[in-house]
Amino acid sequence: MATRAAVQPSGTDRAVPLGLPGWMAPQVPEVDQWNIILTNRCNLHCISCSYPDQRPFRYVRRETIARYLPRMLDHGVRRVMLTGGEPCMHPDFDDIVDDLAAADVDITLVTNGTYLGRKLPRLAGKLARLIISLDSDTADGYASIRGASAFDHLTGLPARFRKESPDTHLTLCVLTQRLNFRRLPEFVELAAGLGVDHVSFLVPDVAGMVAPTERGGAFGHVAALPDDRVEQVALTDAEVEEFRERVIPAVEAACARHPELTSSSLDLLRDFADYFAAFRTGRARPERRRCALPFREVVLDEQERFRFCFFMPDAWPAAGVEDPVNHPGVVAARRDYLETDHRLDRFCNMCLQARRVEAAHP
Ligand code: SF4
Repeated sequence: MATRAAVQPSGTDRAVPLGLPGWMAPQVPEVDQWNIILTNRCNLHCISCSYPDQRPFRYVRRETIARYLPRMLDHGVRRVMLTGGEPCMHPDFDDIVDDLAAADVDITLVTNGTYLGRKLPRLAGKLARLIISLDSDTADGYASIRGASAFDHLTGLPARFRKESPDTHLTLCVLTQRLNFRRLPEFVELAAGLGVDHVSFLVPDVAGMVAPTERGGAFGHVAALPDDRVEQVALTDAEVEEFRERVIPAVEAACARHPELTSSSLDLLRDFADYFAAFRTGRARPERRRCALPFREVVLDEQERFRFCFFMPDAWPAAGVEDPVNHPGVVAARRDYLETDHRLDRFCNMCLQARRVEAAHP
């Protein structure tokens, strides 16, 4: 574990705590991925998300992406992730995808999938990776978590994509919460039956549901959500134990039956249990590790701001930024993150992105 005491002597521009890779430095020559929150607009009403309540609707302009794309390419970016809100609701979505495809970057689309049926002919062959948030293995479960009746449409998509866009890597993701945690093994079986490439396990940002400013307003939260909504999502202490003792072994057994589906997120399930337990007790999770995301990825949000990461409040309007990878604000924030522990303790402790990004950047 990196500690303040382990920070290298100051006076260099690479004050990297011992044990961390050398590319974790205030200035980075290269980044791997550009994450673009295309819009705050969404057509669903998931219980752990506030984007559908946000007004006004905001959209990253196509010309803003076009302006920064060459700089991103200069910095080595070869992957762009489009997310939201629901990114397909951006009025220029098709043209933005075309622009990125013309630049020969790998495009990952994170979507609720409800627009994909009509978008598929235009998207075919352009996406490297498609991640569909499904969250349930049944139509009723889907409707109770995501507030819509789209399950049958969504479960028909993998076969269509396989046929019309065979090189697109398909992932179904499930946001682990009270309404679905017992059915994660069945979710794995559903995914196997649909013939997708991967299952990805995620966890809702329950910390942001009760303290949005502490989590950078992620998932559109601007005010604390009512207790009853949080209670629908966060596992209780008894459920955490059930999850640890009974459900996780069953998920592991399901994944063992379908090893081709298993991604590194399977290893996160025990972290999910720790995460919900920490949320209930208000005590910090035992693990502390610095996160690679601010050093390997760039986030542009729906307000056209570059951000330190998805979950910290630091954000800089894109309009004043020449170099999106090493502008003075983010360099100072990276240095602070490396040399002190306060961001680590305040923001990263209730975030599992560090593990996720670490898995993506071994
Ligand atoms: S762990 Fe979360 S809060 Fe910390 S830097 Fe990574 S994404 Fe941001």
